[in-house]
Amino acid sequence: MRTQDYIELEEKFGAHNYHPLNVVIDRAEGVWVYDVEGKKYLDCLAAYSAVNQGHCHPRIINALKAQAEKVTLTSRAFRNNQLPLLYKELSELTGYEISLPMNSGAEAVETALKAARKWGYKVKGVEEHQAEIITCTNNFAGRTISIISFSTEAQYRDGFGPFTPGFKIVDYGNAKELEKAITKNTVAFLVEPIQGEGGVVVPPEGYLKEAFDICKKDNILFIADEIQCGLGRSGKLFAFQYESIKPDVVIIGKALSGGCYPVSAVLSDREVLGVFKPGDHGSTFGGNPLGAAVARESLKVLVEENLIERSYELGNYFMSELKKNNSAYIKEVRGKGLFIGVELKPEAGGARRFCEALMARGILCKETHENVIRFAPPLVIKKEEIDWALTHINEVLVTI
Ligand SMILES: *Cc1c(COP(=O)(O)O)cnc(C)c1O
Repeated sequence: MRTQDYIELEEKFGAHNYHPLNVVIDRAEGVWVYDVEGKKYLDCLAAYSAVNQGHCHPRIINALKAQAEKVTLTSRAFRNNQLPLLYKELSELTGYEISLPMNSGAEAVETALKAARKWGYKVKGVEEHQAEIITCTNNFAGRTISIISFSTEAQYRDGFGPFTPGFKIVDYGNAKELEKAITKNTVAFLVEPIQGEGGVVVPPEGYLKEAFDICKKDNILFIADEIQCGLGRSGKLFAFQYESIKPDVVIIGKALSGGCYPVSAVLSDREVLGVFKPGDHGSTFGGNPLGAAVARESLKVLVEENLIERSYELGNYFMSELKKNNSAYIKEVRGKGLFIGVELKPEAGGARRFCEALMARGILCKETHENVIRFAPPLVIKKEEIDWALTHINEVLVTI
Protein backbone atom coordinates (compact mmCIF):
# COMPACT_ATOMS: atom_id res chain seq x y z
CA MET A 1 0.00 0.00 0.00
CA ARG A 2 1.15 3.51 -0.76
CA THR A 3 0.60 6.93 0.81
CA GLN A 4 -2.62 7.63 -1.06
CA ASP A 5 -4.12 4.24 -0.16
CA TYR A 6 -3.65 4.85 3.55
CA ILE A 7 -5.06 8.34 3.28
CA GLU A 8 -8.15 7.03 1.49
CA LEU A 9 -8.73 4.38 4.17
CA GLU A 10 -8.33 6.91 6.91
CA GLU A 11 -10.71 9.38 5.30
CA LYS A 12 -13.28 6.66 4.61
CA PHE A 13 -13.31 4.81 7.93
CA GLY A 14 -12.13 7.38 10.46
CA ALA A 15 -13.81 10.36 12.10
CA HIS A 16 -12.41 13.58 10.67
CA ASN A 17 -11.44 15.37 13.87
CA TYR A 18 -7.92 16.20 12.63
CA HIS A 19 -6.43 17.78 9.52
CA PRO A 20 -3.03 16.07 9.30
CA LEU A 21 -0.30 16.75 6.79
CA ASN A 22 -0.42 14.07 4.13
CA VAL A 23 2.59 12.10 5.27
CA VAL A 24 2.05 8.50 6.37
CA ILE A 25 4.71 7.56 8.88
CA ASP A 26 5.91 4.00 9.06
CA ARG A 27 8.81 4.15 11.52
CA ALA A 28 10.96 6.59 13.46
CA GLU A 29 14.23 6.88 15.31
CA GLY A 30 15.50 9.84 17.34
CA VAL A 31 14.66 13.03 15.46
CA TRP A 32 13.92 11.27 12.18
CA VAL A 33 10.71 9.73 10.87
CA TYR A 34 10.30 7.67 7.69
CA ASP A 35 7.15 7.51 5.59
CA VAL A 36 5.71 4.46 3.84
CA GLU A 37 7.57 5.42 0.65
CA GLY A 38 10.86 5.37 2.58
CA LYS A 39 11.27 9.16 2.54
CA LYS A 40 13.00 10.61 5.59
CA TYR A 41 11.88 13.70 7.54
CA LEU A 42 13.21 15.70 10.47
CA ASP A 43 10.46 15.83 13.07
CA CYS A 44 10.11 19.42 14.29
CA LEU A 45 6.89 18.83 16.22
CA ALA A 46 7.85 15.84 18.39
CA ALA A 47 4.17 14.89 18.82
CA TYR A 48 3.37 18.20 20.52
CA SER A 49 6.40 17.68 22.81
CA ALA A 50 5.50 14.13 23.87
CA VAL A 51 8.64 12.83 22.19
CA ASN A 52 11.20 15.09 23.90
CA GLN A 53 13.53 12.09 24.39
CA GLY A 54 13.44 11.26 20.65
CA HIS A 55 11.42 8.61 18.86
CA CYS A 56 11.76 5.02 20.05
CA HIS A 57 14.52 5.86 22.50
CA PRO A 58 16.31 2.50 22.97
CA ARG A 59 16.38 2.76 26.76
CA ILE A 60 12.68 3.58 26.98
CA ILE A 61 11.75 0.86 24.49
CA ASN A 62 13.78 -1.64 26.50
CA ALA A 63 12.01 -0.63 29.69
CA LEU A 64 8.69 -0.96 27.86
CA LYS A 65 9.52 -4.43 26.53
CA ALA A 66 10.92 -5.71 29.81
CA GLN A 67 7.90 -4.56 31.77
CA ALA A 68 5.46 -5.79 29.08
CA GLU A 69 6.81 -9.28 29.58
CA LYS A 70 6.29 -9.15 33.34
CA VAL A 71 2.98 -7.46 34.14
CA THR A 72 1.16 -4.64 32.34
CA LEU A 73 -1.95 -3.93 34.35
CA THR A 74 -2.96 -4.71 37.90
CA SER A 75 -5.53 -1.95 38.32
CA ARG A 76 -5.23 0.01 41.52
CA ALA A 77 -7.27 -2.66 43.28
CA PHE A 78 -3.87 -4.25 43.85
CA ARG A 79 -0.43 -2.71 44.20
CA ASN A 80 2.43 -3.11 41.74
CA ASN A 81 6.17 -2.76 42.14
CA GLN A 82 6.70 0.07 39.63
CA LEU A 83 4.32 2.78 40.80
CA PRO A 84 5.93 3.33 44.23
CA LEU A 85 9.28 3.85 42.53
CA LEU A 86 7.77 6.30 40.04
CA TYR A 87 6.23 8.24 42.96
CA LYS A 88 9.56 8.41 44.74
CA GLU A 89 11.55 9.40 41.67
CA LEU A 90 9.02 12.07 40.67
CA SER A 91 9.17 13.53 44.15
CA GLU A 92 12.97 13.55 44.18
CA LEU A 93 13.17 15.14 40.73
CA THR A 94 10.51 17.80 41.21
CA GLY A 95 10.47 18.55 44.93
CA TYR A 96 6.75 17.85 45.35
CA GLU A 97 5.69 15.57 48.19
CA ILE A 98 3.21 13.39 46.36
CA SER A 99 1.66 12.78 42.94
CA LEU A 100 -1.37 11.19 41.32
CA PRO A 101 -0.96 9.26 38.05
CA MET A 102 -3.42 9.35 35.16
CA ASN A 103 -3.09 8.63 31.43
CA SER A 104 -3.90 11.52 29.12
CA GLY A 105 -3.10 15.13 29.81
CA ALA A 106 -6.77 16.08 29.88
CA GLU A 107 -7.41 13.54 32.64
CA ALA A 108 -4.60 15.00 34.70
CA VAL A 109 -6.05 18.51 34.22
CA GLU A 110 -9.47 17.22 35.33
CA THR A 111 -7.78 15.64 38.34
CA ALA A 112 -6.13 18.94 39.27
CA LEU A 113 -9.45 20.78 38.91
CA LYS A 114 -11.18 18.24 41.15
CA ALA A 115 -8.37 18.46 43.72
CA ALA A 116 -8.59 22.27 43.70
CA ARG A 117 -12.35 22.26 44.21
CA LYS A 118 -12.19 19.73 47.02
CA TRP A 119 -9.31 21.64 48.63
CA GLY A 120 -11.44 24.77 48.37
CA TYR A 121 -14.33 23.17 50.24
CA LYS A 122 -12.47 21.07 52.76
CA VAL A 123 -9.41 23.18 53.51
CA LYS A 124 -10.09 26.77 52.48
CA GLY A 125 -13.70 26.67 53.62
CA VAL A 126 -15.52 27.81 50.48
CA GLU A 127 -19.28 27.26 50.57
CA GLU A 128 -20.39 24.02 48.88
CA HIS A 129 -20.84 24.28 45.05
CA GLN A 130 -19.53 27.85 44.93
CA ALA A 131 -15.86 27.20 44.01
CA GLU A 132 -14.46 29.27 41.15
CA ILE A 133 -11.34 28.53 39.14
CA ILE A 134 -9.72 31.29 37.11
CA THR A 135 -8.15 30.44 33.76
CA CYS A 136 -6.65 32.44 30.90
CA THR A 137 -7.61 33.55 27.42
CA ASN A 138 -6.05 31.52 24.61
CA ASN A 139 -5.55 28.53 26.92
CA PHE A 140 -5.36 24.89 25.91
CA ALA A 141 -5.82 22.17 28.51
CA GLY A 142 -7.46 19.33 26.60
CA ARG A 143 -10.82 18.41 25.15
CA THR A 144 -13.17 17.16 27.86
CA ILE A 145 -16.43 19.00 28.40
CA SER A 146 -15.25 20.67 31.61
CA ILE A 147 -11.99 21.76 30.00
CA ILE A 148 -13.60 23.22 26.88
CA SER A 149 -16.00 24.99 29.23
CA PHE A 150 -13.20 27.50 29.83
CA SER A 151 -11.75 27.54 26.33
CA THR A 152 -11.79 30.84 24.43
CA GLU A 153 -11.52 29.03 21.10
CA ALA A 154 -14.98 29.12 19.48
CA GLN A 155 -14.43 25.91 17.50
CA TYR A 156 -13.48 23.89 20.59
CA ARG A 157 -16.89 24.72 22.10
CA ASP A 158 -19.21 24.91 19.11
CA GLY A 159 -21.88 22.25 19.43
CA PHE A 160 -20.66 20.87 22.76
CA GLY A 161 -22.70 22.77 25.35
CA PRO A 162 -24.07 22.87 27.99
CA PHE A 163 -20.82 23.71 29.74
CA THR A 164 -19.48 23.12 33.23
CA PRO A 165 -19.92 26.18 35.46
CA GLY A 166 -17.38 27.51 37.92
CA PHE A 167 -14.73 28.97 35.62
CA LYS A 168 -13.71 32.56 34.97
CA ILE A 169 -11.39 33.68 32.20
CA VAL A 170 -8.90 36.55 32.43
CA ASP A 171 -6.37 37.92 29.94
CA TYR A 172 -3.21 35.81 29.74
CA GLY A 173 -0.22 37.90 30.74
CA ASN A 174 -2.18 40.44 32.78
CA ALA A 175 -1.83 39.90 36.55
CA LYS A 176 -3.99 42.92 37.40
CA GLU A 177 -6.93 41.25 35.64
CA LEU A 178 -6.37 38.14 37.71
CA GLU A 179 -6.39 40.18 40.90
CA LYS A 180 -9.68 41.84 39.92
CA ALA A 181 -11.37 38.52 39.12
CA ILE A 182 -10.71 37.01 42.55
CA THR A 183 -13.62 36.57 44.94
CA LYS A 184 -14.00 34.78 48.26
CA ASN A 185 -14.98 31.69 46.27
CA THR A 186 -11.84 31.55 44.12
CA VAL A 187 -9.95 28.34 44.79
CA ALA A 188 -7.38 28.19 42.00
CA PHE A 189 -5.69 29.85 39.06
CA LEU A 190 -4.84 27.49 36.19
CA VAL A 191 -2.18 28.70 33.76
CA GLU A 192 0.28 27.47 31.15
CA PRO A 193 3.67 29.07 31.90
CA ILE A 194 4.12 29.14 28.11
CA GLN A 195 1.04 28.60 25.97
CA GLY A 196 1.69 25.83 23.45
CA GLU A 197 -1.44 25.37 21.36
CA GLY A 198 -2.11 29.07 21.74
CA GLY A 199 0.91 29.65 19.50
CA VAL A 200 4.01 29.34 21.73
CA VAL A 201 3.05 32.46 23.67
CA VAL A 202 5.58 33.54 26.30
CA PRO A 203 3.95 35.85 28.86
CA PRO A 204 5.62 39.16 29.82
CA GLU A 205 8.58 38.72 32.15
CA GLY A 206 7.50 38.86 35.77
CA TYR A 207 3.90 37.87 35.05
CA LEU A 208 4.06 34.40 36.58
CA LYS A 209 5.73 35.71 39.72
CA GLU A 210 3.21 38.50 40.07
CA ALA A 211 0.28 36.10 39.53
CA PHE A 212 1.84 33.66 41.98
CA ASP A 213 2.20 36.35 44.66
CA ILE A 214 -1.43 37.39 44.16
CA CYS A 215 -2.53 33.77 44.60
CA LYS A 216 -0.47 33.41 47.76
CA LYS A 217 -1.88 36.62 49.23
CA ASP A 218 -5.45 35.39 48.72
CA ASN A 219 -4.91 31.71 49.58
CA ILE A 220 -5.54 30.52 46.02
CA LEU A 221 -3.87 27.49 44.47
CA PHE A 222 -1.51 28.31 41.61
CA ILE A 223 -1.78 25.42 39.15
CA ALA A 224 0.80 25.23 36.35
CA ASP A 225 -0.17 23.20 33.29
CA GLU A 226 3.29 22.01 32.21
CA ILE A 227 1.99 19.23 29.98
CA GLN A 228 3.55 20.76 26.88
CA CYS A 229 6.07 23.34 28.11
CA GLY A 230 7.43 21.12 30.90
CA LEU A 231 9.95 18.29 31.14
CA GLY A 232 12.78 20.12 29.43
CA ARG A 233 10.94 21.59 26.47
CA SER A 234 11.53 25.20 27.53
CA GLY A 235 15.17 24.68 28.49
CA LYS A 236 14.31 24.16 32.17
CA LEU A 237 12.72 21.12 33.80
CA PHE A 238 9.62 23.32 34.20
CA ALA A 239 8.94 26.57 32.37
CA PHE A 240 7.79 28.22 35.63
CA GLN A 241 11.38 27.97 36.87
CA TYR A 242 12.26 30.97 34.71
CA GLU A 243 10.49 33.01 37.36
CA SER A 244 11.67 31.18 40.47
CA ILE A 245 8.21 30.26 41.72
CA LYS A 246 6.94 26.98 43.10
CA PRO A 247 3.34 26.41 42.01
CA ASP A 248 1.07 24.58 44.43
CA VAL A 249 0.13 22.08 41.74
CA VAL A 250 1.93 21.04 38.55
CA ILE A 251 0.36 18.98 35.79
CA ILE A 252 2.58 16.88 33.51
CA GLY A 253 1.96 14.43 30.68
CA LYS A 254 3.20 14.09 27.11
CA ALA A 255 7.00 13.63 27.51
CA LEU A 256 6.51 11.91 30.85
CA SER A 257 6.51 8.72 28.79
CA GLY A 258 8.84 9.82 25.99
CA GLY A 259 5.90 9.32 23.64
CA CYS A 260 5.84 5.57 24.26
CA TYR A 261 2.66 5.29 26.27
CA PRO A 262 0.02 7.66 27.69
CA VAL A 263 1.16 8.68 31.18
CA SER A 264 0.26 11.88 32.99
CA ALA A 265 0.41 13.03 36.58
CA VAL A 266 -0.54 15.75 39.01
CA LEU A 267 2.22 16.81 41.40
CA SER A 268 1.55 18.63 44.63
CA ASP A 269 1.97 18.48 48.37
CA ARG A 270 -0.11 16.57 50.93
CA GLU A 271 -2.19 19.61 51.75
CA VAL A 272 -3.74 19.53 48.27
CA LEU A 273 -3.59 15.98 46.90
CA GLY A 274 -4.24 14.69 50.39
CA VAL A 275 -7.90 15.72 49.95
CA PHE A 276 -8.46 12.60 47.85
CA LYS A 277 -9.65 9.67 49.94
CA PRO A 278 -10.01 6.09 48.62
CA GLY A 279 -12.92 6.03 46.19
CA ASP A 280 -12.91 9.79 45.44
CA HIS A 281 -11.17 9.54 42.10
CA GLY A 282 -9.42 6.99 39.90
CA SER A 283 -8.63 5.44 36.55
CA THR A 284 -8.36 1.78 35.54
CA PHE A 285 -5.10 2.35 33.69
CA GLY A 286 -3.75 5.23 35.80
CA GLY A 287 -0.56 4.19 37.57
CA ASN A 288 -0.29 0.87 35.78
CA PRO A 289 3.09 -0.88 35.97
CA LEU A 290 3.78 -0.61 32.23
CA GLY A 291 3.19 3.13 32.20
CA ALA A 292 5.10 3.58 35.44
CA ALA A 293 8.14 1.66 34.14
CA VAL A 294 8.11 3.69 30.93
CA ALA A 295 7.77 6.98 32.80
CA ARG A 296 10.61 6.10 35.18
CA GLU A 297 12.97 5.42 32.29
CA SER A 298 11.78 8.49 30.36
CA LEU A 299 12.62 10.75 33.31
CA LYS A 300 16.03 9.12 33.70
CA VAL A 301 16.81 9.66 30.02
CA LEU A 302 15.79 13.31 30.29
CA VAL A 303 18.19 13.89 33.16
CA GLU A 304 21.07 11.53 32.33
CA GLU A 305 21.32 12.67 28.70
CA ASN A 306 21.25 16.32 29.79
CA LEU A 307 18.30 16.97 27.51
CA ILE A 308 17.13 19.94 29.56
CA GLU A 309 20.46 21.74 29.15
CA ARG A 310 20.58 20.78 25.47
CA SER A 311 17.16 22.30 24.98
CA TYR A 312 18.35 25.53 26.61
CA GLU A 313 21.54 25.83 24.59
CA LEU A 314 20.37 24.57 21.23
CA GLY A 315 17.09 26.42 21.60
CA ASN A 316 18.91 29.72 22.10
CA TYR A 317 21.00 28.98 19.03
CA PHE A 318 18.02 27.94 16.88
CA MET A 319 16.04 31.00 17.88
CA SER A 320 18.85 33.49 17.42
CA GLU A 321 19.47 32.11 13.93
CA LEU A 322 15.76 32.33 13.08
CA LYS A 323 15.71 35.92 14.30
CA LYS A 324 18.31 36.79 11.64
CA ASN A 325 15.82 35.89 8.93
CA ASN A 326 14.48 39.10 7.41
CA SER A 327 11.54 37.61 5.53
CA ALA A 328 8.81 40.23 5.12
CA TYR A 329 6.32 37.57 6.25
CA ILE A 330 7.67 37.22 9.79
CA LYS A 331 5.90 39.13 12.52
CA GLU A 332 7.74 37.65 15.50
CA VAL A 333 10.06 34.83 16.51
CA ARG A 334 9.56 33.82 20.15
CA GLY A 335 9.93 30.99 22.65
CA LYS A 336 12.22 29.47 25.23
CA GLY A 337 14.59 26.56 24.71
CA LEU A 338 13.59 24.29 21.84
CA PHE A 339 10.03 25.61 22.05
CA ILE A 340 9.88 28.17 19.28
CA GLY A 341 7.05 29.87 17.46
CA VAL A 342 7.41 31.90 14.28
CA GLU A 343 4.37 34.12 13.93
CA LEU A 344 3.65 35.21 10.38
CA LYS A 345 1.90 38.36 9.28
CA PRO A 346 -1.63 37.98 7.89
CA GLU A 347 -0.35 38.67 4.35
CA ALA A 348 1.77 35.50 4.52
CA GLY A 349 -1.39 33.54 3.70
CA GLY A 350 -1.35 31.28 6.76
CA ALA A 351 1.30 29.01 8.24
CA ARG A 352 -0.06 25.84 6.66
CA ARG A 353 1.45 26.45 3.22
CA PHE A 354 4.88 26.96 4.81
CA CYS A 355 4.50 23.67 6.69
CA GLU A 356 3.61 21.95 3.43
CA ALA A 357 6.63 23.48 1.68
CA LEU A 358 8.86 22.34 4.53
CA MET A 359 7.39 18.84 4.36
CA ALA A 360 8.35 18.66 0.68
CA ARG A 361 11.93 19.43 1.81
CA GLY A 362 11.91 16.77 4.53
CA ILE A 363 10.96 18.79 7.61
CA LEU A 364 7.78 18.11 9.54
CA CYS A 365 6.17 20.88 11.50
CA LYS A 366 2.62 21.97 12.08
CA GLU A 367 0.85 25.26 12.03
CA THR A 368 -0.81 26.29 15.24
CA HIS A 369 -3.44 29.00 15.21
CA GLU A 370 -3.51 29.92 11.51
CA ASN A 371 -0.37 32.06 11.59
CA VAL A 372 2.21 30.39 13.79
CA ILE A 373 4.75 27.74 12.80
CA ARG A 374 5.93 25.84 15.86
CA PHE A 375 9.45 24.40 15.94
CA ALA A 376 9.75 21.89 18.78
CA PRO A 377 12.00 19.02 17.69
CA PRO A 378 12.97 16.16 20.01
CA LEU A 379 15.55 17.47 22.49
CA VAL A 380 18.12 14.95 21.25
CA ILE A 381 18.52 16.98 18.05
CA LYS A 382 22.12 17.82 17.12
CA LYS A 383 23.45 21.23 16.11
CA GLU A 384 24.21 19.97 12.57
CA GLU A 385 20.61 18.86 12.22
CA ILE A 386 19.40 22.28 13.34
CA ASP A 387 21.74 23.89 10.81
CA TRP A 388 20.38 21.69 8.04
CA ALA A 389 16.82 22.55 9.04
CA LEU A 390 17.64 26.26 9.25
CA THR A 391 18.89 26.30 5.66
CA HIS A 392 15.52 25.04 4.47
CA ILE A 393 13.42 27.05 6.90
CA ASN A 394 15.20 30.26 5.96
CA GLU A 395 14.76 29.57 2.27
CA VAL A 396 11.10 28.64 2.58
CA LEU A 397 10.35 31.73 4.65
CA VAL A 398 11.71 34.06 1.96
CA THR A 399 10.96 32.25 -1.29
CA ILE A 400 7.39 30.98 -1.14
C1 LIG B 1 -1.66 18.49 25.10
C2 LIG B 1 -2.04 19.34 26.25
C3 LIG B 1 -3.03 18.95 27.16
C4 LIG B 1 -3.89 17.73 26.95
O1 LIG B 1 -3.18 16.55 26.86
P1 LIG B 1 -3.85 15.27 26.15
O2 LIG B 1 -2.89 14.17 26.43
O3 LIG B 1 -3.95 15.61 24.69
O4 LIG B 1 -5.17 15.08 26.77
C5 LIG B 1 -3.26 19.76 28.26
N1 LIG B 1 -2.56 20.90 28.45
C6 LIG B 1 -1.61 21.31 27.60
C7 LIG B 1 -0.86 22.56 27.87
C8 LIG B 1 -1.34 20.56 26.45
O5 LIG B 1 -0.44 21.00 25.57
